[in-house]
Amino acid sequence: MRSKRAAPANGVVLYKGPSALDGKPIVAIATCLVNPSKNDKTGPMAQLIIMREDIHPVEATKTGEDESICGTCPARKANDNWCYVLVGKPISQVYRAYKNGRYAEGSTDDILKSRWSFRHGTYGNPSAIPFEVNEEIFTTLEAARKSWTAYEHEWRTCDQRLSQYSMASCETIEDAQEAISMGWRPYLSCLPEEVELAKELGLLQCPYRLHDASTPQCSDCNMCSGNASKVSAGIVAPVHGANYKVNNYVEMRERASLRVVQ
Ligand code: SF4
Repeated sequence: MRSKRAAPANGVVLYKGPSALDGKPIVAIATCLVNPSKNDKTGPMAQLIIMREDIHPVEATKTGEDESICGTCPARKANDNWCYVLVGKPISQVYRAYKNGRYAEGSTDDILKSRWSFRHGTYGNPSAIPFEVNEEIFTTLEAARKSWTAYEHEWRTCDQRLSQYSMASCETIEDAQEAISMGWRPYLSCLPEEVELAKELGLLQCPYRLHDASTPQCSDCNMCSGNASKVSAGIVAPVHGANYKVNNYVEMRERASLRVVQ
């Protein structure tokens, strides 16, 4: 009798070890390899989720221990609290599944078995895992002509070779200009009224539009792949997400402008 072929895993551990940011234990899990994410903006994609290995993600955001994976990102709960990632549900589900032994150790080959493009750092900064691990992930995807997106908040201080594969996450036009001067392609989240100015400075507006099914999702577009993209311009998009997070972003910008005026 012919033996049944094992079903491919929906998720695997790609890295488990010290954070490259602060040395504390973290884990990077590739998920949605078979059943893709249902996020309306990204479209169907496999995901890389980077978490503290030893602390529940909700607890880590409350206590500031998420610094091991998010660095000094201004969007953290401990800072201005406008990160759009829903740590309470999907990220916690992955953490629970990991703790229940649902994810075996895997390799970049497992990503290639997935038919979906890859979203690096759905949660957590790419630079939290060692550059060599990132390099293997991205070069494997590149060699197989598989597309990806990636966003890095520690672009000023991380291993600068990451700019080949990841966007620099920016919150102001000045940040975006600095990132460009350092050789990065920025992904600028800004106030809606700043989008036109950013475009005049050479950034392209993200083509996705909420509630407009005719616009591309990340899985079709894939412009956010650092300097590996055929597109050399940075990207700009108005800040998005839950209302209270957008409000927190606006308040953060107001505080920042007050600091400049004082
Ligand atoms: S520019 Fe493309 S890849 Fe980047 S966020 Fe927008 S839709 Fe996604």
